Amino acid sequence: MKQITILSGKGGVGKSSITASLAIALSKKRKIVCADCDVDASNLALVFGMGTDDFEMWKSISTNQKARVDLSRCTSCGKCASECYFDAIDWDGAKKIPVFKEFGCEGCTVCEMICPASAIEMYDVSNARIGYGKTKYGFMVVTGQLEMGESGSGKVVSRVKELSLDVSKHADIMLVDAAAGIGCPVIASVAGSDYVIGVCEPTPSGFSDLKRALSVVNHFNIPYGIVINKFDLNLEYTQKIEEFAKKKGIRVLSKLGYDKCFMDALVNLVPVIEFSPAYKEIFDKVVRALEDEGVFRDK
Ligand code: SF4
Ligand code: SF4
Repeated sequence: MKQITILSGKGGVGKSSITASLAIALSKKRKIVCADCDVDASNLALVFGMGTDDFEMWKSISTNQKARVDLSRCTSCGKCASECYFDAIDWDGAKKIPVFKEFGCEGCTVCEMICPASAIEMYDVSNARIGYGKTKYGFMVVTGQLEMGESGSGKVVSRVKELSLDVSKHADIMLVDAAAGIGCPVIASVAGSDYVIGVCEPTPSGFSDLKRALSVVNHFNIPYGIVINKFDLNLEYTQKIEEFAKKKGIRVLSKLGYDKCFMDALVNLVPVIEFSPAYKEIFDKVVRALEDEGVFRDK
């Protein structure tokens, strides 16, 4: 199975809309599965028009731990409170005991390791939900959602990708909608990709965010191309991005003009390729560009 990952340096540039439409274009000739790995703000299923009733499975998972203290063993040394990097342990000076703040704990285990009285233990927390369902377009979408205030998103992304492999064993392509930015969930999304598509808007911050995101891809030595969204809103920066791409030998897979259709399609819970006939040819061209890039060839 080939993994194609779609990322953007920042949110709100149309990444999920583009992923959904590309998925439909790809699924005409190939068996695909979509993995929504934007676990902090997953919305790919919604773009496909799926509600909670459309999911065949939806369950809580644990990919993180938190610390708790057994005060009967605590000798009030205060080490844990002073060494917690995440400031998740207050010190109650009157009672001379540590007070663990559940929401602040990142599960780093430092306090457990340094406690001289072995009074601290780690316990599993349900920090996310994952599930899958079939879209009306015939392929599966697998999604993950981090619970509010929880951490461990990188591992949730890995679980979404594992589940995608499980539910679509015979798929030709896993299309991954990555988290925005360059953090841990993005790295987990990009890992194992055969090709990456960077989506950007032609603004100074859009261009610099794209370069940062692509530096993650470079680290893994994965080939990639670019889609410039709303290119006609800033032709000067579109030209800069194209010059950058030319210099680096990166293919610009598509330039999409600003179109209110994207928003109308979102409001109607339909991918833009289904909402407006003009986008069929546009996304078919992206598929052909990916074919030209050799993305579907066996290595
Ligand atoms: S490190 Fe252990 S013994 Fe020291 S205050 Fe924390 S829980 Fe108590
Ligand atoms: S596990 Fe790490 S983050 Fe959590 S309370 Fe202990 S030291 Fe702080």
